[in-house]
Amino acid sequence: MRYAETGYNLEIDLSRGNIERVETDPKLTELHLGGLGTNAKILWDRVPPETEPFSPDNLLIFATGLLVGTPAVGCNRTIVSTFSPQTLLMAYSMMGGFWAPELKYAGYDKVIFRGKSPNLVYLWINNDKVEIRDASHLQGKGADETAELIRQELKEPNAQVAAIGLAGENRVYMASIEQGRSSASRLGIGAVMGDKGLKAIAVRGTKDINIARPAEYMELCNDVLKYIQVRSEKPVPGVMPILAGLGSPAEMKLVDEEWHTQNFMWGNARERKKDYWNKEIEEKWKETQENVRTRLISCYNCPMKCGALISVPGISTYMMKCFSKLTYTMAAFSDLDFGFRIAQRATEYGVDAFSTPQVMAFGLELYEAGILTDQDMAGMPSDNEGRFYWLLDRIARREGIGDILANGTYWAAQQIGKGAEAYAHNNIKKHEQLPLKLGMLNPVYFLMYSTGEKINITQIEGQFPQAPFPTMEEREDFVKDWIHVPDEKFKQYLLDWELRGERSNPYYPTVDMSVDIVDWQEKMHYIDDALGMCAGLSSFPLKPPYHIHNYPAFISSATGIDMDEAGLTQVYKRNRTLLRAINVRRGLRRADEKPPEDHWKKRFPELEAQLLDAYYKFKGWDNQGIPTKESLHELGLDYVSEDFEQRGIIKNEQG
Ligand code: SF4
Repeated sequence: MRYAETGYNLEIDLSRGNIERVETDPKLTELHLGGLGTNAKILWDRVPPETEPFSPDNLLIFATGLLVGTPAVGCNRTIVSTFSPQTLLMAYSMMGGFWAPELKYAGYDKVIFRGKSPNLVYLWINNDKVEIRDASHLQGKGADETAELIRQELKEPNAQVAAIGLAGENRVYMASIEQGRSSASRLGIGAVMGDKGLKAIAVRGTKDINIARPAEYMELCNDVLKYIQVRSEKPVPGVMPILAGLGSPAEMKLVDEEWHTQNFMWGNARERKKDYWNKEIEEKWKETQENVRTRLISCYNCPMKCGALISVPGISTYMMKCFSKLTYTMAAFSDLDFGFRIAQRATEYGVDAFSTPQVMAFGLELYEAGILTDQDMAGMPSDNEGRFYWLLDRIARREGIGDILANGTYWAAQQIGKGAEAYAHNNIKKHEQLPLKLGMLNPVYFLMYSTGEKINITQIEGQFPQAPFPTMEEREDFVKDWIHVPDEKFKQYLLDWELRGERSNPYYPTVDMSVDIVDWQEKMHYIDDALGMCAGLSSFPLKPPYHIHNYPAFISSATGIDMDEAGLTQVYKRNRTLLRAINVRRGLRRADEKPPEDHWKKRFPELEAQLLDAYYKFKGWDNQGIPTKESLHELGLDYVSEDFEQRGIIKNEQG
């Protein structure tokens, strides 16, 4: 009997139209848990590093995490893994919503696609019955519209559907996979889905999942619910509102946007408006938001209500959550009403709400600088909002200049030349980042940002505060009930952290402390991504219900695997290192791990080099970020070092 997981994957060969149900190896669950961990193992084993993202040999994996579909609150993530057309590295975007639990209830842990379908198709998983169906009538349809049409066609209103829009069909590098109640947006995974000729996956499942020790497990789940209740009544004082509570930032509840509008950058991450927010704007934005927000909604089995249904008169209802509320507004120097309107069209096209607005603003900045000409922009309206709609349409259709912009700022700048590279100034690993430009380098944030491989907003966040508390009283108050720390030393790190003076950024936390903090934060992210847990209840906010001390009990009682903190740490290290190895094999090196030049005004090259050196050493990697033979051996990854040796990666680069 398999517990927590189903023990079966679906293997779909889209070239041949072949469908197989394959039993998985329980040993791999012990080594990697599931979700991201086992996805990485499959990609390592089956996709050689020479494989192009748009090759039929690239795999596209839709995975559930190990605890998805069990009563663990907030455990509902789908982890989509493939190789990104944007970074050429491994992508593992995630979505919440309802899709992953439904797949588990249908009896599968993952759906693994290979090959390419000659015609547009969709997959219909109805418990044991799985079929590839024609989707030619859905060509060009919006992502949400496609989901609705499929549910009607199947006469199955409860089917969960993950679909791409026109952007995915056209292999736009910012294409997302939409699911009605969430989306997996980063790194162009929707483009890989479109390249495979796969419009959607619909799933309906009605089976049960086995739990090894159900009574014990339910008790743990109830403790989490109680803790959420307590934390919801007690926001963390002294931090900005979106970080004071739990969940993905409560953007759909909040109307006070002073912090985002004055600290995040407008345009193509270029201009900060320090005095933007005032009473008049606050009133206007509040009215806009309350008029269009039909109701707040949650993902499967979660009380947090991070998302909202948005109904703008004249256009169909869609779901929005988090910072995408502001990305289009701020890129276009417009207002919230515009943001809510254009986001609906962008959702139907299926594009990433972080990158796409930056790319459009980048196009306009190139035009204003004379790098793009009237000829390039022929037919573009003269009004600001009209230009954004026009650019969005061109990008999704890959028409004219949109065909170049559809490749994201990094690749578009290379294609355009004429100095366009200077305008693509917000990338790490060839991908647009958070539209932030800050003053003083923060060492923990520097490491999280530069070395993170998820390339997602959460990559800079963790269970350690991002800034010091101004007074000792606040610090002492914070550490009092800080049960999450893996070691008591973290409390002292925080108590000693000052806003100014010797014990302040960039030299405090010290290099070694920064590495410790980053390791803790990364550990939580990697465990979440293997379990399918929402980061909003674990690795993202301060004082969340899940942490390193209660996770082993969750895993043990759900799966029957004997797991303690040391064992879980070893699994995290293995997954982290394997992911690094996959990207090393595809060429990732130290030179790629640098934040945008202008991300901080004050930079410290020597300190930054020391931080990277110490981080790599702590991980057991050499100074290029390549895992060493010894550390690979210690993690049971000798097959990686053998491969590295054959390819000359270890022999040549580690002497
Ligand atoms: S915390 Fe928010 S984003 Fe996370 S599962 Fe709950 S509702 Fe979804």
